[in-house]
Amino acid sequence: MSAARYAVFGQPIAHSQSPRIQAAFGRAEGIEIDYRAIEASPQEFAAALEAFAAGGGVGANVTLPHKEAAFALCATTTSRAQRAGAVNTLLRKGTRWHGDNTDGIGLVRDLTGRHGLDLRGRRVLLLGAGGAARGVAPALLDAGILELVVANRTPERADALVDAMSEPGRAISAYWEALREQGDFELIINATSAGRSDGAAFSLPLSLVNSLTTAVDLNYGEAAIPFLAWARAAGCRNYFDGLGMLVEQAAESFQQWHGVRPGTDEVYAGLRERAATLVTA
Ligand code: NDP
Repeated sequence: MSAARYAVFGQPIAHSQSPRIQAAFGRAEGIEIDYRAIEASPQEFAAALEAFAAGGGVGANVTLPHKEAAFALCATTTSRAQRAGAVNTLLRKGTRWHGDNTDGIGLVRDLTGRHGLDLRGRRVLLLGAGGAARGVAPALLDAGILELVVANRTPERADALVDAMSEPGRAISAYWEALREQGDFELIINATSAGRSDGAAFSLPLSLVNSLTTAVDLNYGEAAIPFLAWARAAGCRNYFDGLGMLVEQAAESFQQWHGVRPGTDEVYAGLRERAATLVTA
């Protein structure tokens, strides 16, 4: 019998690490996996997903720019996907798709597990209000942080994200230009794609940082360099990229498809070794 089919959909998708990560999980768990990368434009995505299902596809990851479209195509979704308004994990149930969002739990597992952070009672600054920010915001609130301040280049999107969290007083939006009035944070998360612009420098007020601040960029590879350079120069105690989150969110997807959560340390170490050459997908 041929292996069940899995895939990651996105555009661009050529540099996606997901096929490599899922194959490594499968080898470690003794599960035969057929997992491919499928390039689809926004116009092609719905039809490509249906063709995939017709050909035996039972599970998929979804990345830029299809996470909101995938959410809309699902017959059922988890509550964390509903709060995010975006889906990164699809599971075929009968003739329909069920959607989840594992980005947030992936980040929280990386922060609390790999990096040993206690998120409870922390003030957190979230930069960005796109699909990734919407995925991680509910998971951070669920992990017991004290306050989430969201700032975005387009302020209306930060306001919309905060409204969707329905946590008055605990999740608030701030103008990027007025961030210096916010004082210092224990955790600063870059969920923007600003670092993907060639040569872009990252600049934020130094008053956001104290000697205990951790900074994490959801990007990795070259795209993480500008923010992490700022974090180092600003005096953050600890700063790292989104490779750990990438591996942890993939492990959550794997668990949903195969019923077992794979170990992540070996896959993370392998990716970390190649990190300088990776491109954020
Ligand atoms: P979106 O396109 O949905 O959102 C992009 C965000 O970046 C928006 O908030 C946008 O602001 C902001 N932005 C873009 N350019 C700039 C700029 N020059 N200055 C300031 N803000 C800017 O992308 P996603 O949210 O899906 O992804 C964000 C990043 O996170 C990506 O680079 C992605 O690769 C990475 N990511 C990593 C994951 C991991 O597992 N490590 C998982 C998911 C994402 P505006 O609203 O004003 O346009």
